[in-house]
Amino acid sequence: MLKRDKLFIGGLWVAPQGKDAIEVHNAGTGAVMGTVPAGTERDIDAAVAAASAALPAWSATPAEKRAEYLQKISDGLKARAEELAKTIAQEVGMPIKLAGRIQAGLPIANFGNYAKIARDFKYEDRVGNSIVVKDPVGVVGAITPWNYPLHQIALKVAPALAAGCTVVLKPSEIAPFNAFILAEVMEAAGLPKGVFNLVTGFGPVVGEALVRHPKVDMISFTGSTRAGKRISELAAQQVKRVALELGGKSASVILEDADLAAAVKGTVNGCYLNSGQTCTALTRMLVPASKYEEAAKLAVEAAKAFTPGDPLSESTRLGPLSSQMQLDRVRDYIRKGVAEGAELLTGGADTPEGLAGGYFVKPTIFGRVKNSMTIAQEEIFGPVLSIIPFKDEAEAVAIANDSPYGLAGAVWSKDDARAQSVARRIRAGQIDVNGGAFNMNAPFGGFKQSGHGREAGVYGLEEFLELKSLQLRG
Ligand code: NAD
Repeated sequence: MLKRDKLFIGGLWVAPQGKDAIEVHNAGTGAVMGTVPAGTERDIDAAVAAASAALPAWSATPAEKRAEYLQKISDGLKARAEELAKTIAQEVGMPIKLAGRIQAGLPIANFGNYAKIARDFKYEDRVGNSIVVKDPVGVVGAITPWNYPLHQIALKVAPALAAGCTVVLKPSEIAPFNAFILAEVMEAAGLPKGVFNLVTGFGPVVGEALVRHPKVDMISFTGSTRAGKRISELAAQQVKRVALELGGKSASVILEDADLAAAVKGTVNGCYLNSGQTCTALTRMLVPASKYEEAAKLAVEAAKAFTPGDPLSESTRLGPLSSQMQLDRVRDYIRKGVAEGAELLTGGADTPEGLAGGYFVKPTIFGRVKNSMTIAQEEIFGPVLSIIPFKDEAEAVAIANDSPYGLAGAVWSKDDARAQSVARRIRAGQIDVNGGAFNMNAPFGGFKQSGHGREAGVYGLEEFLELKSLQLRG
């Protein structure tokens, strides 16, 4: 049992002001794996006061020095990579091998990358008779989800610190233990007191207290569109800057000249990564009507490689979902798909054999899905793929764009120029062309209800800056 009963505020581990604790469940077994404090508004007040007090000195610290701290944090995380992977594999359910590469590997890489970006960035420009100064926005409230918990924290905290901001982090109550390891790493790196603060708790309590706090200059949020809307409403009362990374319902468009086997395999992999609990998951596979039967067969075949199993086993490719709530939600969507008339090609809402206890669901594929169906419009956040036939390229683009979301997508064609031209017509933030690899320096974020603002690389740093122009006399 992991027991965390302190919060990290002003460089110290302090007792929370309330008495309640939150139970955290092991996704693979359903058992309680530990507890963390259920913070209160008073804990947020203390953390924001610490972050405000630390702001003048931190924002005046030379970028080179800030970069040194970021590199130390990256090194500190690296030294604890195994522990991080194991913790997150249990909190979230991602298979351990992948958790090591992605859940621990990406934050290590991002803190290191921001050390470099902080060093190389030009914090001033000259435009005619003006100097354009890029100031840190101030105290940042970071609110993060559970699916890639430390990665999403790193994509906010690393660039915010690089920009000269101070931070109060409110991580997900479902996967909070990794954030405590980060706080210990920050402490060991000797980060000045109050530059980074950690308060755990429930969204409507500590999350909202952070958003409402008048001394918080910006909220950077990743999570559901529902919570993003609520945060926007609250922040609007103070005209507070908000960056939102929200949900998605991304289309993988397979054109008739594509290598069908590679495209279907790539799409199934992109849908099932982290048991479908990935905001950029390719959950709608758009295939030419003439190739539908072949594509459906290939997809069902590809799904067979994803037998659900223990996330701590080295050979598992599909772990459980993260919580009972997720499990209930995903099963409801599968039932709704059947009820609305989609063809269930594989999987379904029953518990996979021999896996009672954890939050396991079968990898599921629906065929002949209409884009107007609930399973094609709403984010499911589980291993559920919808195959949607189209008659021509124009219809494929129209279906891809017929979504309240616009986070990601994929296009497949033998002709790279054609694939690019289709990718340019899809209204979404990141589109993989013929299986192009993830690029940690490319901007990440959404169109439409997938949010606004961009994370990663230099674009992620710019989110935390205010521009100020000084007009000089001639
Ligand atoms: P969630 O919105 O329920 O919770 C996210 C965080 O917000 C948690 O820390 C939670 O405590 C907090 N929160 C909840 N209600 C709040 C409120 N009223 N005020 C302030 N804070 C509040 O989302 P989740 O279930 O943790 O994460 C899954 C969602 O996140 C999915 O919709 C997924 O698509 C999205 N997501 C988006 C991206 C992206 O970059 N676009 C990345 C990962 C996840």
